[in-house]
Formats: sequence, C-alpha cells, structure tokens
Amino acid sequence: MPQQRASTTHRGHRGTPRLIAEQDTQSLPDTMLAVEAVDYQSPLRLSHRPLPALPSGSLLVRMEAAGVCRTDLQIVRGHWPDLPSLPRIPGHTGVGIVVSDALSRNIQIGDRVALPWLGLSCGTCEQCLNERPQLCASRDQARWNADGTWAEYATTSEHDVVIVPEGIAPCEAAVLSEAGLTTYAAVERAGVRATHTVGVFGIGGLGHLALQYAGIAGAHTVAIDFMENKLVLAKELGAQAQFHPQDPMLGNYVSRQGGLDVALICSDTPSAVAQALSMIAPGGTAVLIGLQQPVQLPLDAFALVRNSITIIGSTGGTRRQLHDVFKVHRDGMTQVVYQARGLEVVNQALAEMEQNMIEGQLVFDIAGIAYE
Ligand SMILES: [Zn+2]
Ligand SMILES: [Zn+2]
Repeated sequence: MPQQRASTTHRGHRGTPRLIAEQDTQSLPDTMLAVEAVDYQSPLRLSHRPLPALPSGSLLVRMEAAGVCRTDLQIVRGHWPDLPSLPRIPGHTGVGIVVSDALSRNIQIGDRVALPWLGLSCGTCEQCLNERPQLCASRDQARWNADGTWAEYATTSEHDVVIVPEGIAPCEAAVLSEAGLTTYAAVERAGVRATHTVGVFGIGGLGHLALQYAGIAGAHTVAIDFMENKLVLAKELGAQAQFHPQDPMLGNYVSRQGGLDVALICSDTPSAVAQALSMIAPGGTAVLIGLQQPVQLPLDAFALVRNSITIIGSTGGTRRQLHDVFKVHRDGMTQVVYQARGLEVVNQALAEMEQNMIEGQLVFDIAGIAYE
C-alpha cells in the first residue's frame, strides 16, 4: 500500500458522526472482531469476541482507527516488566464513535471521540487534579490491564475522551491522539521557543510531529535519523537541517548553533540519548520520549552538573493538550504522515514497523474492515 500523507488540504471524511451513530445504535452486534494476544511467543490472531462489558462512567465506542506505536510492539513481544496474563486485546489509543449513553451532557451518542493513551485514569487523585492524568497511579498503563483498541468496539472512561473536531479524518485523529499528543506535551514541557535550536532524534511517528511542533514554536530544527527517506521527509516538514547520526558534519553544525537548547529524543535507540546529551548546550534540556525499555543509561555527572543540563522523561499528555493538537491541525499548521493497515494483517504490519519500513505512524483503519 502506498504511503498516505494527509494534510489539512486533502483529508477525507466519513460523513457526519451522528448519521453513523444512528445506524450503530439500531444494530449493535453481539460479537466483534478483535485482535487477540494469546501468549507472548505466538503471533497475534483475529478472533470474534463478545462486545465489552460497560462499567458505569464508561463509554462504548465503535472504533474507526487505532494508533500503533513502539510501546505496543514492546508489550506484545513481552519486553515490558509486569506483563499481565493473556488473552488480551492490545492497543492503547484510538478514535471512534460513541454508541452508548454518557453521563456528561457534553458527550452524546454519535460524537467522534479520541481515546488518548492516558485512558482510565481515576479523575480524583492528586496527579489527576494537577492535570497529569497520565501519571495517575490507577491509570491503566498503556491500557494493557484491560482490553484495548485493536477491535471493532472498545470502552473508555468518560472523563478521558476528547471530542474530535469536524474536519479531521479518523486515521489522522488517531495519529494526533498518540504521537501528536505525546510530542506536543514534550515540546511544551521543554519550553521550546523561537530562539532555540532543537534537535529531533528519530523522524518516525513521534519525530515527524515533534519536529513540526518545535517549528511552530519558532525554533531552528535539526532532524537526525539513520534513514535517508526520513531525512527527506523532515526537510519537507520544515526542518532547517537534516543529518545521519554518523554524519561528521552534524557536530560542527550543532556547535555553530551553540549546541542544542532542546533535544527531543523520539528514537528508541539508547545511542541516540548519548548522542543528544553530547550536543546539549549549557542550560539545555533533553527530553526522553521514544525510549521505553528498561535500559540503564550512562550519564556524565560532571558534564551534567557543570552545564546545568536538565533531563526529563515525558509520556502522554492532557486532554487540554490534545484539544490544542486538534486545533493546530485543523488550522492547517501540521501534516500527519501515516500508513494505514487493516487489523487482518496485524502481524505483518507490526513486522513492517519493527523493520523500520513504515513512514510516519502506523495506524489500523478499523472502519475499513470488510470481512465477517
Ligand atoms: Zn503509544
Ligand atoms: Zn488519578
């Protein structure tokens, strides 16, 4: 399938949400198609499952699109600590149509909503009240303790969804809810501004959006990736400079800029962290976003202290930030780059991602399911 690159100037609609919902509520099926992980060694499989039970305060959503990221890959391959017993439906973000009644007057049957990965936070603890639901202790980490979004239907807690504005297609909204939210929040946390030089390490699903948010903040952006096609993409998306990580010119270029004020490390390679830290300007900030594995990183404490370097980890974001992400996209300021696949080719799609064959983010186009 060719790459699908959707911008605000050419994106599709699937009709108004309310019309879709009227069909849905009249004909909710007893079962649904879902991807199932049965054990951590076997391939994922497609199976028929009963529709999920609906705890109070939860919404039933007919899924249209679901994002796929490296976290999913790590989990289904069994590489995360504290993995639950299986079977389980993977997937921790997505977009779909509400098909059950909501308690809130702001959410109605027929609304298109995003299920950002902070799903199932409690809404009442100190972290939640401080607008950090992604750090809620009762949060379902990556939605892996409950069934997820790689299915025709999924549930989510009502207070975690964000309405998708008119004019953003489901697959685009799915990318924005995942990679968009994660990187927008990271750019905000790092305080990127117009005088900054920002290095973006890894121009994949996360990096292609991180680059654009840093650019919108007015920063001078430097894209770093092993793959030539991703550097070409970075240039198209507005990066001022692009380098292979081993390019001997990279160090010189960054030195002439006075170092990196901010490094957005979207790559999942530990060596990217070391390289980013070696190029950080005094007083600068390195944000770890893409490396989500239990690896130990060597740190030069002397350089860290002497240069007052800040290192932060950033995961997910808030509903306000996702609202901003949608607004920025609807206003034509970002391009979403993704490749869509059907759930029926889930194993092949994950293998493609593992081999770095996906440009932008991988998305499951669930509304396109055309089989029984
Ligand atoms: Zn993710
Ligand atoms: Zn909480």
